[in-house]
Amino acid sequence: MGDAAAECTIKVVCRFRPLNSSEVARGDQYIPKFKGDDCVLMVSGKPYYFDRVFQSKTTQEEFYNAVAQKIVKDVLEGYNGTIFAYGQTSSGKTHTMEGKLHDPEMMGIIPRIVQDIFNYIYSMDENLEFHIKVSYFEIYLDKIRDLLDVSKTNLPVHEDKNRVPYVKGCTERFVCTPDEVMEAIDEGKNNRSVAVTNMNEHSSRSHSIFLINIKQENSKTEQKLTGKLYLVDLAGSEKVGKTGAEGTVLDEAKMINKSLSALGIVISALAEGSSYIPYRDSKMTRILQDSLGGNCRTTMVICCSPSAYNDAETRSTLLFGQRAK
Ligand code: ADP
Ligand code: MG
Repeated sequence: MGDAAAECTIKVVCRFRPLNSSEVARGDQYIPKFKGDDCVLMVSGKPYYFDRVFQSKTTQEEFYNAVAQKIVKDVLEGYNGTIFAYGQTSSGKTHTMEGKLHDPEMMGIIPRIVQDIFNYIYSMDENLEFHIKVSYFEIYLDKIRDLLDVSKTNLPVHEDKNRVPYVKGCTERFVCTPDEVMEAIDEGKNNRSVAVTNMNEHSSRSHSIFLINIKQENSKTEQKLTGKLYLVDLAGSEKVGKTGAEGTVLDEAKMINKSLSALGIVISALAEGSSYIPYRDSKMTRILQDSLGGNCRTTMVICCSPSAYNDAETRSTLLFGQRAK
């Protein structure tokens, strides 16, 4: 594993959204100050450094080109990859990962990745055969729910013959066109919202994971190549229920804290090159094991609100990102 681990790269980038209309209406102060393209200062004056820091005016296209495009190329060359969006609710995670799915200007990285993958395929010579399959699931209260088959509500994590963990029984949909991928996403999103009373609340309390698996086969040389890419919209990182939280709300908060901190620990262990990586401490890190370590490309997007109102949460978000470096 030594060589593979050396090939593993972890990037942490930070993206600030603009003030939203209710923050503007309330007269909230816009607090981040940017220095160069890798540093942000908060009111305390403390600088936070990342591989890149993106200011509020960054467009979806600029963000994609700077952060995700290269990973697509790597996955098509046989690497595994993961892109996470981390941050408090309403900090721009879903805007970053999905955006407006069918709007060419406002779409986020997932639909752009889908377009790029197929553009690549269409540009390749015809001896190459591609098999693409996608899965879409969420983790809520530590249960894995298949978003492409609502009858599967508590799927187990197993290991295949190469000891690679995977979600057993999860739907794998074969897709041949960008439209088919987008249909699967629409279907999954629709399934996700069914059976929950408040979709916003639900999405801030659960992790959503979209997996694209690409297999290439050269019919002349018989050379094979596989790469997979996990795209993860994490549960909101805010502290929940300082007082009086009980029942489901408290259970949710505990699960989220546990899984996000397990993720932070795994990423920082990888970044430090530790010999022991505690993948087994949460379902999510188990599932992502071979796309976080090994021959992988991992990017964590730290999503932040610029409002003084969210200062404390934003600083704790920035700190999480720093620890992952
Ligand atoms: P989260 O998924 O973290 O809860 P969202 O992505 O849903 O947050 O963002 C909350 C709101 O802010 C949405 O209406 C979204 O369109 C808007 N928003 C988020 N990030 C940006 C951005 N970079 N530029 C413009 N609007 C944004
Ligand atoms: Mg969201």
